[in-house]
Amino acid sequence: MQRISLLGATGSVGRSTLEVIALNPERYQVYALTGHSRMDQLALLCSQFHPQKVVVADGQQREYLRQCGAVDAATQILVGREGLIEVAVDPCVDTVMAAIVGAAGLEPTLAAVCAGKRVLLANKEALVMSGDLFMQSVRQSAARLLPVDSEHSAIFQCLAQPGRSLHEQGVEKLVLTGSGGPFRTLSKAALAQVTPAMAVRHPRWSMGPKISVDSATLMNKGLELIEACWLFDAAPEAIEIWIHPQSIVHSLVRYQDGSTLAQLGYPDMRTPIAVALAWPERIVAGVAPLDLLTTGTLEFEAPDRERFPCLDLARQAMAAGGSAPTLLNAANEVAVQAFLQNETPFSAIPAIIAATLDRLPVSATATLEQVIEADRQARQVAGRLIHQHRAGI
Ligand code: NDP
Ligand code: MG
Repeated sequence: MQRISLLGATGSVGRSTLEVIALNPERYQVYALTGHSRMDQLALLCSQFHPQKVVVADGQQREYLRQCGAVDAATQILVGREGLIEVAVDPCVDTVMAAIVGAAGLEPTLAAVCAGKRVLLANKEALVMSGDLFMQSVRQSAARLLPVDSEHSAIFQCLAQPGRSLHEQGVEKLVLTGSGGPFRTLSKAALAQVTPAMAVRHPRWSMGPKISVDSATLMNKGLELIEACWLFDAAPEAIEIWIHPQSIVHSLVRYQDGSTLAQLGYPDMRTPIAVALAWPERIVAGVAPLDLLTTGTLEFEAPDRERFPCLDLARQAMAAGGSAPTLLNAANEVAVQAFLQNETPFSAIPAIIAATLDRLPVSATATLEQVIEADRQARQVAGRLIHQHRAGI
């Protein structure tokens, strides 16, 4: 029986994880659930899964959960950053699902790694912003890190010995696929007019608002490129990106002997979540088996780097090293938030990220404090740029 802390239980990945757990009750027990704003949702999950610990953002939410009657009297309700870290390192827990969105997930995810947990990583921003420190912590603690992002799960499944170096395994290239997002075919002029409602309506995947916007700008593929470099110890040049609108082939590994292996399935996060939960075994995930006879044509094309400049920005940040990916990630989070709140146009997102990277020097990110400081500086600069833009300065 694996006991699980689920960070970000109220989100899209969080709820899919609970669906897979519910199908496999003899293997998994929910030990802790965390939520941040959707308290009705969290209360519902508590009444269904009876966790021993719950984490909320503040005392008012704790009061609400206590009053609503959905939480068992014996359940401990913890608050804030300390609460998140406590359930991430709890000695009763074997597995931590890191499914908080954005930089907010860094500290608890890293704490789970340092505590040597089995860490299922959906929260790619945590790895992007602290890559070297994160992977060093994995090695030092002997934590087991398992990718949840569908592309990285696909690559993981196509490697015969995921723990060994790509070179030793005869791997020549990793190919990350992406649907191209909802605006794949729009002109540059049309891209300037898109609204948040259009951006969060993804053609293939059902996801939270932030990653949906990232998919629309292709920054999601940029973040995934950086994520893949760290997870598989790959050079950025060894990673290609292919647009594949049907989202059936979730990524590929090309070997030096001429073989290319791919993992296929319907676009449903319950599959990579089940892979990470059960690895090296397999469990049911509630996902229909793939029927290639009815999927129609599978198409692949190179991404348009001019219309979607976020891809090159991410490649450049990874090549620059140090704090550059931290700055990129923070500026992106601020710009996406501003776009979602109708404070800045869609086409300003890459411009804000590029200008933030231009204004800040690349520094070392060997410690958590340095990572947090680089993140803070980039948020400040990106916030100022958005403010100036709005004020017409
Ligand atoms: P959602 O927005 O649906 O969910 C985010 C979760 O994080 C919610 O539980 C939310 O709580 C919680 N949260 C938000 N802000 C904070 C905070 N400041 N402190 C603590 N908790 C917080 O996102 P997704 O599930 O779509 O994505 C989660 C992560 O997984 C992201 O990093 C994303 O890139 C990655 N991912 C997602 C995929 C998908 O298909 N959705 C695919 C691959 C990766 P609440 O809702 O209560 O406010
Ligand atoms: Mg992905």
